[in-house]
Amino acid sequence: RTVYVNGEFLPEDQAHVSIFDRGFLMADGVYEVVSVLDGKLLDFAGHMARLERSLAELQIPNPLSAEEYLAIHRDLVARNEITDGLVYLQVTRGNPGDRDFAYPSADTPQTVVMFTQSKPGLADAPAARTGWKVISVEDLRWHRRDIKTVQLLYPSMAKMEAKARGVDDAWLVEDGKVTEGTSNNAYIVKDGKIITRQLSQDILHGITRAAVLRFAREAQMQVEERSFTIEEAQSADEAFVTSASAFVMPVVEVDGQPVGTGQVGQVATRLREIYLEESRKAVV
Ligand code: PMP
Repeated sequence: RTVYVNGEFLPEDQAHVSIFDRGFLMADGVYEVVSVLDGKLLDFAGHMARLERSLAELQIPNPLSAEEYLAIHRDLVARNEITDGLVYLQVTRGNPGDRDFAYPSADTPQTVVMFTQSKPGLADAPAARTGWKVISVEDLRWHRRDIKTVQLLYPSMAKMEAKARGVDDAWLVEDGKVTEGTSNNAYIVKDGKIITRQLSQDILHGITRAAVLRFAREAQMQVEERSFTIEEAQSADEAFVTSASAFVMPVVEVDGQPVGTGQVGQVATRLREIYLEESRKAVV
């Protein structure tokens, strides 16, 4: 695989970053994941807008322009012959040459790495036909989940807990309400209404969430942005999650209880179709 690091395209085993990089020592960096379908980038502008926002919230300079990021994305997709898959992008505050809690001066060399992951058949994942099972776990993450930092240890622990219990993912719960999934936004459907948590610092502002809610409203579906409990999810008609790599993924079981009929629901299926169809029209 050819990867990108700080201005160079290199074979992955020749790409290196410093041990003093603040991304490595302090999780002082942010990331984005853009899906690739038929060699094209999905929701690219949205991901770039969120990248800029994440960097600005942390006062990390943005080392490249949107045009430069786009050119590198396209170059990596071409060099690695990606038909379906992902492009991962990470920007860190860089390498001050030593370890210190205070931010280094603005002229510190930053680190930008990008790489591809090939995922043949990404858009027709078999899981979309059977749905995911999820468990709930307490949300012990920090309180700026709207910033897409590389500090992913807690979601990783929650994912391991889900795996250990034989299910697909975990929904994180704080003050009795679902915040989001380990790496996706969470939704329920009740009496035809799509319910998902309102935007705040408590959750990541999913790019897929924004697109799906827009398409749902355009299709005259009812949307309510509010938090919900695990019990509400268990007595809902349907549930699902959204993310750049899972698109719209039905959820059929929450903490061992079937949601609705326990089968993949019509609303989730329809939203998945609409999302894929509409987003494919806007690829770059
Ligand atoms: N919430 C969290 C915690 C995530 O990690 C992700 C995926 N990056 C999402 C939501 C979904 O965001 P997006 O639709 O932009 O992939």
